[in-house]
Amino acid sequence: DDIIVKIAAGEVISGTYNVVKELIENSIDAGADKIRVEIIDGGKSKIVVEDNGDGMSLEEMRIAVKPHTTSKIDKFDDLYSINSFGFRGEALASISEISRMSISSKKENDLTGYEIFYIGGKEVEVKEVTKNKGTKIEVNDLFFNIPARRKFLKSSSSESRKVTDIVEKFILSENIDFEYIRNGKEIYKFYKNDKHTDKIITLFPELKLEDLIEINQNIGWGSIKGFISNPKTTRGNRSAQIFFVNKRYVKEGDLFSVFERSYGEMLDKGRHPYGVLFINVLPDNVDVNVHPQKLEVKFSDQNIIMKDMKNILRENLVEKTK
Ligand code: ADP
Ligand code: MG
Repeated sequence: DDIIVKIAAGEVISGTYNVVKELIENSIDAGADKIRVEIIDGGKSKIVVEDNGDGMSLEEMRIAVKPHTTSKIDKFDDLYSINSFGFRGEALASISEISRMSISSKKENDLTGYEIFYIGGKEVEVKEVTKNKGTKIEVNDLFFNIPARRKFLKSSSSESRKVTDIVEKFILSENIDFEYIRNGKEIYKFYKNDKHTDKIITLFPELKLEDLIEINQNIGWGSIKGFISNPKTTRGNRSAQIFFVNKRYVKEGDLFSVFERSYGEMLDKGRHPYGVLFINVLPDNVDVNVHPQKLEVKFSDQNIIMKDMKNILRENLVEKTK
């Protein structure tokens, strides 16, 4: 019944950053090349994700909010979407159950858009709206109807930090216009064709362009691309070491240690390099669906991939710091 539905929804959504992540993934899946994310109070009072993707008709919006409905069945074979969705067809349904949510959306060729308001999963109002193609989802007062869970949300500043972390990962991995607003203040604004290096030095203001070493190497099982810091600039930490496997952000222990070991004696004791690395492997070589929420990844030949990665980074470091 209702309580069970809400508890289940609470399992899918653990904090404000989950909501933001699911909504951004939906926008990307809808083909958006422009996304605007806004949060207030770390997302506890308000989360807004707006895109210029394909949009939905009124009927499609209502279906989208029903549990276990997805329009993406045909994409489940696609590696990227398998990666992205921990909870297939459950995000919108769950979010609507545990918040005051509104969806407004318009498809390119529809004459008008619609906005539907939900309170705790119940549709309370629907109206026509004038808007451009795309979708805007607003999530207010997360867990307002499950006080026991609301209590477990962290402080606004720590929820906020987690949301910002997630947003930064999408900024790095997606080549789209991206705007991020926190408590009414614009934190990031990037454009589709901004250089990766510009994004990196904006996200890590302590880095300068000349601190970055480009990695761009193909290898039998795939490729490694991105930027790592010059051994002289190694005051980073593990949150400054960001890895994507087939475009999906992962947090995999082996990658951190291999990355640091590639610096060898160039790394002073206690220091940590920066890195933003995109590791692309042929689908047969990776199982990225190990645990979608824990961001783990498993390579079918972990040893070979790790060894190659270490060598590639090492060679680039030696070559480019001569
Ligand atoms: P899933 O993404 O796993 O399909 P969700 O609950 O996140 O499940 O979304 C349900 C459905 O709602 C999606 O399959 C999609 O059809 C639709 N949808 C959600 N967000 C958007 C969006 N921003 N633009 C267009 N369609 C969307
Ligand atoms: Mg989704």
